[in-house]
Amino acid sequence: MTTPRANFHDLTREALRQLVVRWGFSPVHAARLWAYVYLEHADHWALMPELPARFRAKAESELALTSLPVAAETHSRDGFTRKYLLALPDDRRIETVLMRFTGRVTACISSQAGCAMGCVFCATGQMGFARHLTAGEIVAQALHVNRVLRQATGSLIDYQGSGPGRPPGERLRNIVLMGMGEPLHNYDAVMTAVEILCDTAGLSLGTKQITLSTVGVVPGIRRLADEGRPIHLAVSLHGATQAERAALVPVAKKWPLDELMDACRYYIARQQRRIFYEWTLIEGKNDTPEQAHAVGRLLHGQDAQVNLIPLNPTTGYAGAPTGREAAKQFQQILRTYGLPSTVRQRRGIDIAAGCGQLATLRS
Ligand code: SF4
Repeated sequence: MTTPRANFHDLTREALRQLVVRWGFSPVHAARLWAYVYLEHADHWALMPELPARFRAKAESELALTSLPVAAETHSRDGFTRKYLLALPDDRRIETVLMRFTGRVTACISSQAGCAMGCVFCATGQMGFARHLTAGEIVAQALHVNRVLRQATGSLIDYQGSGPGRPPGERLRNIVLMGMGEPLHNYDAVMTAVEILCDTAGLSLGTKQITLSTVGVVPGIRRLADEGRPIHLAVSLHGATQAERAALVPVAKKWPLDELMDACRYYIARQQRRIFYEWTLIEGKNDTPEQAHAVGRLLHGQDAQVNLIPLNPTTGYAGAPTGREAAKQFQQILRTYGLPSTVRQRRGIDIAAGCGQLATLRS
């Protein structure tokens, strides 16, 4: 029985260098291989003519250049959003979303197939958990979006596309780890993927261009704070009392609100960084003035911003989104506590690509 090849995209540049040296080849070959894949977007060994044949044969026998085939693709009517159903090597499926905003292109990528957190209004949570993604499967989603941008004809604008050593073309601008799954439940793979995505000899995304969203995995928030990783952190709150939050986010029973707030204050103090709190606005459920005041009291004094997200429809939850006026009133109350807030632009709702809508039949 032959051993399956390792996935090239699971490797950081340093891990690749060490592997190549262990094979008995020069680290120069490792650097050239890395550049082929991440700077020149080579996705096949035949596209790497400068690598010595013996080295290329060894690399090909040991490593797979895995891309994730597109099982289905949908485009929103307004043309701003595209959703990709990508096939994993074990035939499970995940979803990745490309979103155009003024002046930037953002990819919303998944960290797990399904999710174990069970948030009641979320289609992924309604599916249950299938498995963690590997670092390479997370990286492959970004590479897929990058490839789409490079193939597009001028309509998706890249503001960083050309530069020294970098071929001209369209590139991904921001990544949000807000797709399927809870990223802090798959901590090591996600952080390895972030390291690969931010590698300055490769895709070179800035850490400030990456936002990780958690539903409140307290140990992960504390670890993130201790490790000093300078990515943006978004925390899904949805309820300002333990009972209200636990009704929407079951994981709050494991990590109660007071423990979550302690971890968030710890993160802000250690990292000297703002936290973005996400609040799904559900009509008649968590959008009253009283609840806005409760959020204000809870977060008062923190370096925080609240992102309000009118509920997106899913088949497994009957709630409705808060209207524009009630959302504005909620914002106004937060302002009296010195809390900045935004109301999230709704994108891709017609193709179920909005927050909380990602799901696959075969995860
Ligand atoms: S909102 Fe996020 S954490 Fe909650 S079930 Fe959905 S994917 Fe999982």
